[in-house]
Amino acid sequence: MSNVIDGRASAAGWQTEIAGEVADLRERSGITPGLRVIIVGNDPASRSYVRRKSRVAGEVGIDGQLVELDENVTTDELLTVISGFNEDAAVHGILVQLPLPPHVDEVRVLRTIAPEKDVDGFHPVNVGGLFSARDPMDGTRLLPCTPLGCMRLIDETLGVDSLSGKEAVVIGRSNIVGKPMAALLLGANCSVSQIHSRTVDPAARCRDADIVIAAVGRPGLVDGDWIKPGAAVIDVGINRVQTPDGGKRLVGDVDFDAVAGVAGAITPVPGGVGPMTVAGLMFNTLTAARATLQSPESS
Ligand code: NAD
Repeated sequence: MSNVIDGRASAAGWQTEIAGEVADLRERSGITPGLRVIIVGNDPASRSYVRRKSRVAGEVGIDGQLVELDENVTTDELLTVISGFNEDAAVHGILVQLPLPPHVDEVRVLRTIAPEKDVDGFHPVNVGGLFSARDPMDGTRLLPCTPLGCMRLIDETLGVDSLSGKEAVVIGRSNIVGKPMAALLLGANCSVSQIHSRTVDPAARCRDADIVIAAVGRPGLVDGDWIKPGAAVIDVGINRVQTPDGGKRLVGDVDFDAVAGVAGAITPVPGGVGPMTVAGLMFNTLTAARATLQSPESS
């Protein structure tokens, strides 16, 4: 049986560290990191995610305010809200919860957030910074929160220094998870393969991997016979499936019971990557607030 990686405990430890650094920043400079979490519409899953983000912000001493906008807000109206926060010195981080309703131009929205306040790490300036950095994990960058949280879990489980030369497979190639995850593993000197919906025989490619990251959105896609004995398996997927009694439960992209018997370490769903994503957002907000101390505007 594998070592089950406890994402809740890791996130709690990370948040305690962040809370200490937030308090230290406030004491040294009078700055309270400010985060604005913008949600458009009433999607229940998105609403529960943003409430959690705002609650955890409060727990670590960040001024994390929820900004709730009507489902019918126009792209221009949303851009006006973002521009206001770009100009507001009390706001260090701006997050727009995705997905947005189809009538809103997501690309324009993400490009309007000032790169230095882009705590989701989705602005092209931050994406370019991630892909061109020699050491993307040097603590100065705004990295996408889920891959950042995964790297922290991998570091705590294997030690980031031990990653050099390891074979890593990332399943999924989204801009939010798959691509930045691959860039971070490459930055840690892994040999990285990226698997996606058109990959022929993904199981065979996974079987060589020391580290497998699954970020697809397909329940139970990764089976026990995909995994090399002893490999570390990080399950990013969140899928709501029907239970035999007619209820719903959350599962990942990995068949947990089958893979746990083979892998050396595995994250559960829920309680694995999810809490680390929220902690990663807090880390980014702290990073953005700290950076204002060094920027020319603040001098
Ligand atoms: P996405 O839909 O944007 O991307 C899915 C990717 O999977 C695509 O790149 C596609 O090529 C690939 N894919 C589809 N079918 C495949 C197959 N059969 N074999 C291999 N690859 C296949 O999704 P996303 O935003 O990257 O999210 C992926 C999953 O992670 C979802 O379940 C999402 O809910 C979850 N997620 C979790 C967190 C968290 O904090 N835990 C954060 C973000 C996303």
